Amino acid sequence: MVTKRIVNGVSVAPGLALGAAHVVRTGSGTVPTWSVAAEDVEREIERLRGAVADASLELTRQQEAVSKASGEQEAGIFGVHRMVLEDPGALKRAIETIREQRINAEAAVQSLIDRLRQTMQSMEGESVRNFTADLAEPWGIVLDYLMQKNRERILSGESTVILAAKELTPKLVTYLARERILAVVAETGGGFSHGAVLARSFGIPCVVGLPNLLARLEQGMKLWVDGDAGTVQLRPGQEDVDLFLERRARRETRQAYLQLHAGLPAVTSDGEELVVEVNVESVRDLDTFPREHCDGVGLLRTEFLYMERTQFPSEEEQYRLYRRVLEHMGDKAVTLRTLDIGCDKQLPYFKTPQEPNPALGWRGLRISLEWQDLLRVQLRAALRASAHGSLRLLLPMVTSIEEVRAVRAIFNDVRCQLVEQGYEAAEDIPVGIMIEVPATVFTLDTLLVEVDFISVGSNDLVQYILAVDRDNSLVSKLYDPYHPAVLRALAQIAAAARAARKPASVCGELAGDYATALALLGMGFSGVSVAPNFLGEVKLAVRGTSSTEARELAGSLCQATTSADAVEALQRLKRTLHERRVASEPGTGRA
Ligand code: PEP
Ligand code: MG
Repeated sequence: MVTKRIVNGVSVAPGLALGAAHVVRTGSGTVPTWSVAAEDVEREIERLRGAVADASLELTRQQEAVSKASGEQEAGIFGVHRMVLEDPGALKRAIETIREQRINAEAAVQSLIDRLRQTMQSMEGESVRNFTADLAEPWGIVLDYLMQKNRERILSGESTVILAAKELTPKLVTYLARERILAVVAETGGGFSHGAVLARSFGIPCVVGLPNLLARLEQGMKLWVDGDAGTVQLRPGQEDVDLFLERRARRETRQAYLQLHAGLPAVTSDGEELVVEVNVESVRDLDTFPREHCDGVGLLRTEFLYMERTQFPSEEEQYRLYRRVLEHMGDKAVTLRTLDIGCDKQLPYFKTPQEPNPALGWRGLRISLEWQDLLRVQLRAALRASAHGSLRLLLPMVTSIEEVRAVRAIFNDVRCQLVEQGYEAAEDIPVGIMIEVPATVFTLDTLLVEVDFISVGSNDLVQYILAVDRDNSLVSKLYDPYHPAVLRALAQIAAAARAARKPASVCGELAGDYATALALLGMGFSGVSVAPNFLGEVKLAVRGTSSTEARELAGSLCQATTSADAVEALQRLKRTLHERRVASEPGTGRA
């Protein structure tokens, strides 16, 4: 009998996937560990021997180069390193580790390095201890070779895989071309981190909260990832595969149904409209949904355009990119958010200082206002592109009205310059702000006087209201978008925007949940902006509800004393919608 191996985690992005695991190292200092099947042990040992030979050759090359440039004495250390690698004892120990523990070569070398360090550190005398680095260093080169080869092999291949890693990061989700990623699973990671945002946006099923998963995986092991339920099944049997295929077929039927109706407007049964826009991270996202299905781009996260390159994009490059997005969307608005880097959104070519508390530090608009050259280039490119579509500007991480005024002054200055230089730019470009920092909730009445619209970045607003880092998996259980404080803040924001007669939408991840989108409509928000994948569900839900129902739902959420009460109210509405749908159109319920 085959024992089922289902690991329960936390669902981050919906969808089903069946395929081979590929373990990835992301983040510094993490060496992936995975189990090796008995029949693959010898191949793993061969990989290790190959990497030792490569490292040895590399040391010889370095020795020759340094010897030529600086003399033989200086080059001596490379010879010593080579001798360390040639020590048969160390290699034998690493091979034994692979055989006995049935783990990959990388993990065996890391264990050898740890042991060497421990032994040397326990010895008497500073000069002996300093020698540790010399003993461990050549094995570090072996480790680099192993990992580099592993990476090259997968990058140059064509297979589709399920990426598995210790931590969910944006780097992991963009490790391979998205068509090649069937799913992503990670031991840790926040459900509202930017890695999670990308997975949802790319439509890649994703599960996190799987401690010690990597130790149970083998490279290439077959997995069934259920992004709906938040589970990962190791080595599914034929019965499971059949079940998977059946569920996938049902999902596809549902998706086809949603697609068929997604072009209809999101208007309630009694005529109230919710503007439904999309969040876009990359120009390639534009191909993932038909333009007619949405009311515009509610959030263009420009930092991901920057993150895809090896140096800052020039004004011309940015202009071309923004123009492409604007032209693609035609008369539908494109909300371009100025660069929002910092925390886990780092540019490889722009190192921000190490901060003890990056979420409260140098990020978003704070960087743009300090490094105004970057902002000016971006605004110039955006303004030039504005002649080719309907542009709105959105400022991230705003804390005070002074910041808004500062950007407006720069914006006007840039516009004057461009006009003087003979460029064309649209006349009235609405400027809005993200509501992400609690300070803006409390001062919204005055901010609304000076901005044209607002967009709630609930991913950040939740972290700042609750004092819970969205990227820290130690506290991810406390990251609760349905905490009464968050729900009341949302209702307060919607009411302030209504009073000021300014459009207000929510572009954070919670808007992608269709029942929550209805609650936002009931609170008084005029729109939501969601990952393309969620357009169909949200619009269908709006069309299946009345504005009274949406208001009642919003009322229940705002009166809830616990988040469990709020979630229960949302579930109740989902059940009602489901029953209604099944009654009117059998066979169209959720998969
Ligand atoms: C948010 O904070 O909700 C948001 C939309 O911005 P990001 O997720 O990019 O921080
Ligand atoms: Mg944000």
